[in-house]
Amino acid sequence: MQKTLEVRNLRKSFGGVMAVDSVSLEVAQGEMLALIGPNGAGKSTCFNMVGGQFPPTEGEILLNGGDGTAVPIAGIGSRRIWQLGVGRTFQITATFTSMSVRQNVQMALLSRRHMIWKFWPRADDLLSDEALALLEQVGLQAQAERAAAVLAYGDLKRLELAIALAGAPKLLLMDEPTAGMASGERTALMALVRRLVSTTGISVLFTEHDMDVVFEVSDRILVLDRGRLIATGTGAEIKANEQVRAIYLGT
Ligand code: ADP
Ligand code: MG
Repeated sequence: MQKTLEVRNLRKSFGGVMAVDSVSLEVAQGEMLALIGPNGAGKSTCFNMVGGQFPPTEGEILLNGGDGTAVPIAGIGSRRIWQLGVGRTFQITATFTSMSVRQNVQMALLSRRHMIWKFWPRADDLLSDEALALLEQVGLQAQAERAAAVLAYGDLKRLELAIALAGAPKLLLMDEPTAGMASGERTALMALVRRLVSTTGISVLFTEHDMDVVFEVSDRILVLDRGRLIATGTGAEIKANEQVRAIYLGT
């Protein structure tokens, strides 16, 4: 199986605190990988280094270049990393709330093609079909012409997902995508992501507090504790791991 992402001996220290310590992991093409662990374990710090929000203190991050090569992306900056195919689900504030749901996705499509400023005045006509196709993928087609501002919280999360997919990512990073959602909505959103992974072959690295959801949708699970990876495996392996049960699941 081809690797989409390879992380080797990643470290990040903030002052004296080693937030991420010697983490190595791989995400295969078409794999949905969960990174779990208690609060403060270093999950977001890992996401932020892979996404380029800040550089690692040490270590390598390699992204599949598409032609079998591995492109080093550690410390090259979030915009460049996005252009190379790493997408993120953004916070709600990233949407243009006065625009329609469809127009928000069109903006993301235009931005991807470096067309956003040149074509701004006619943005409403461009790539409309492509935007609608993405909205259908996330189950928002019926809301396409509504203002993003009036969407329910769970639908905004779907819009964020469509906007991230508009960037045509090879790898999608989702740091607590279901935060603030009700249990049923959480399950539905992550099941949707699971279907997208299966149909499109993109890779997803995500974190999620609801263990039922994690076990339901993940191909593999990585467990972080105090900056270190303490276990890796399938849901069944993680459930049976005594160290994980003691430290994290509390059983
Ligand atoms: P998680 O996402 O697993 O809850 P984080 O990656 O947010 O954990 O945090 C890991 C550790 O790094 C924590 O001890 C946290 O306080 C610290 N940390 C995270 N970001 C910063 C920062 N920007 N500056 C200083 N310390 C930070
Ligand atoms: Mg976090």
